[in-house]
Amino acid sequence: MTNTLKFTGSVPAKGYAAQSAKTPLAPFEFTRREPHDTDVQIEVLYCGVCHSDIHQARDEWGGSTFPMVPGHEVVGKVTRVGAKVKGFKPGDLAGVGCMVDSCRDCKACGEGLEQYCENGANFTYNSKEKDGVTPTQGGYSTVIVTDEKFVLRMPKELDLAASAPLLCAGITTYSPLRHWKVGKGTKVAVVGLGGLGHMGVKLARAMGAEVTAITTSTSKKEDAIRLGAHHVVVSKNPAEMEAAAGRFDFILNTVSAPTDINAYVNLLAREGTMCLVGVPDKAPELQAFPLISGRRSVAGSLIGGIKETQEMLDFCAKHGITSDIEKIPMAKINDAYTRMIKGDVKYRFVIDCKTI
Ligand code: NAP
Ligand code: ZN
Ligand code: ZN
Repeated sequence: MTNTLKFTGSVPAKGYAAQSAKTPLAPFEFTRREPHDTDVQIEVLYCGVCHSDIHQARDEWGGSTFPMVPGHEVVGKVTRVGAKVKGFKPGDLAGVGCMVDSCRDCKACGEGLEQYCENGANFTYNSKEKDGVTPTQGGYSTVIVTDEKFVLRMPKELDLAASAPLLCAGITTYSPLRHWKVGKGTKVAVVGLGGLGHMGVKLARAMGAEVTAITTSTSKKEDAIRLGAHHVVVSKNPAEMEAAAGRFDFILNTVSAPTDINAYVNLLAREGTMCLVGVPDKAPELQAFPLISGRRSVAGSLIGGIKETQEMLDFCAKHGITSDIEKIPMAKINDAYTRMIKGDVKYRFVIDCKTI
């Protein structure tokens, strides 16, 4: 549909980019396209820092392209709209998550599941625009131009910086919790209390579930309760893990590093499901016995579609849910990466994009 449009342009943008997998992020100047008829131009005010940014900037999943401006938890103010834009006007708050477009034609797109587009969604960075050539660049920047179909309405009642992480961490945890029908009467565990995990705890609690946080960090125990968990299990403590065996209907596993996932399968009740959303750089080794002995399942889930992302934002507005954040200037991004790898973040870094 839009393939004949021009995706390169002259809208000046400043940001931070990785020039290679081995070099730290550094200041980078580039341009965005002039808005098409259905595009929205957004002055980026804040951008959350997701562990996927680290995986991709360091090419831990393979296939990364450089230079790369990461960032897919992008919020700001609309400054300009194309002639046919209906849903946004200058001055509106707006957000861009993990995708900037998709084929809009396949079965998945037709069902509002653009993240599973059969022709490959156009992701916000480390991907290509609809022309299949121009690299997409993310939200560690001052401006972004995106088709309005992929722009979210940010709730006015929520703090804007603290709602940026909803656009990835929020939807990535909300979508599987909804898909596996978590609610009143469900016993849920969330593994890993990082950016995704702390959102998973808040959302599962708001959905009415009985929530357990499973963490390697004894120091996060009190926080887990404050965030909404009813119980906490420290996974490094064998007695606590044993006591939790067979307990959960659903486990949301957000761990970013390789771990023994069989230990968590053992915590599932009969016919329970563990959904992996974390994507460590090494594939997990899955044993058959813990699965067959309880007809248990291990599944996966990728972010969420645009319609569901808006639904999640509205759910968060209704329940007063945002992310617990630490704001940083853009120049601190490499330190933030180092701290995230050590698990030293409570619970999401958010870049103040005005600081560049
Ligand atoms: P994060 O903020 O760095 O949190 C990851 C958490 O995992 C840590 O806080 C830590 O929690 C736990 N952890 C880390 N190393 C561990 C280890 N060796 N053993 C056990 N637990 C460990 O990362 P994030 O931004 O939430 O992202 C988490 C993962 O999800 C990443 O792999 C990311 O790429 C992926 N992701 C996937 C999707 C998707 O669509 N599926 C979307 C976004 C992100 P504790 O201190 O509590 O143990
Ligand atoms: Zn993300
Ligand atoms: Zn599609």
